[in-house]
Amino acid sequence: VKAQVFYKPEVMKLEDRDIPAVSDNEVLIRVKACGICGSDIAYYFGKSPLDTETGLGPLVLGHEFSGDIVEMGTNVERMGMFHASDRVTVNPPLHCNVCEMCTQGYPNLCLNMKPLGTAQNGAFAEYVKAPYTHLVKLPDAVSYEEAAMIEPLACALHGVKLLDAQLGDSVVIFGTGAIGLMMLQAIKARGAGKVAVCGVLDYPLETARHLGADYIFNTMDNASPYYTNDIKKEIISLTGGRMADKSIVPVGAVSAMRSAVEVTGFNANIVMFGLPGADDVLEVPVLDTLKAAKTVRFSWLSPQMWPETIRAVHEGKIQLRSLITHHYTLEQLGDALVYLAGPDPKKIKGMVLF
Ligand SMILES: [Zn+2]
Ligand SMILES: [Zn+2]
Repeated sequence: VKAQVFYKPEVMKLEDRDIPAVSDNEVLIRVKACGICGSDIAYYFGKSPLDTETGLGPLVLGHEFSGDIVEMGTNVERMGMFHASDRVTVNPPLHCNVCEMCTQGYPNLCLNMKPLGTAQNGAFAEYVKAPYTHLVKLPDAVSYEEAAMIEPLACALHGVKLLDAQLGDSVVIFGTGAIGLMMLQAIKARGAGKVAVCGVLDYPLETARHLGADYIFNTMDNASPYYTNDIKKEIISLTGGRMADKSIVPVGAVSAMRSAVEVTGFNANIVMFGLPGADDVLEVPVLDTLKAAKTVRFSWLSPQMWPETIRAVHEGKIQLRSLITHHYTLEQLGDALVYLAGPDPKKIKGMVLF
């Protein structure tokens, strides 16, 4: 079966491999769709190490996927919870269920995490195996493509849960990638008031406006009609000096994280979500933050989020199709990773279809 195998930065090969053998507690899945995550691009270019011992391959990347069960291990079969041809997606950060964090109810902080696609072979392949404990069945009305977006959406919705946007709250979102646009929809669906979205490209900012953003700001491109060089001043003027109630940062830029603290007011919640570099440091003006009694939180993965995430998609609360801007075949993956790292201003989310 065909698999794209990542070896080391910028070296990925399409190979013919044996079908993975499933153990008693695993199922074999025929992959139907696999999203290309920003982290896949970072791994490909060597900007982020894998979770393998060496930080390198050989490893099949791809952790945002959906497909059909084609084979089950003996325990899975005996339990009767899943059947061949069931449509499923998989929660890929495989936690151990045994360590102190898992047993306290924080599987996202598992001490023995072995994620599919970063530590074990993922889904940029025709077949992938996964333990039945991490499978989630799909409603018929949820497409394979949408299902391949449930992993990032579950993470986005966890960030929004920590943000705790309430009826009428003013919110600033820093970032217009797929995650930012998912968060925007969730924040609006929770009844937030005015929502401002900041980004660096006009096309996704305009997509944000179509998805419900009340204000859009381009903080980089001074040729943009949405350009501002002082986001704090804009928020002061939009809120009459009250500042935002909540802000969230689905990008890894520390400058955006700093702005997120600065654009908020009394009792604000601020949630950091995007992945910064290993050596990045966030400096916060302490006295102002203290005297405004702000809460700064960090969101990691998607503990206990999957059932409500699938319901949100099934019930149409979150629109995912317009976020998928680029489609690829498995053969095209190497080119796709290079392309999506490039300057196309209309890219939001790339998806490999099988
Ligand atoms: Zn991802
Ligand atoms: Zn654990």
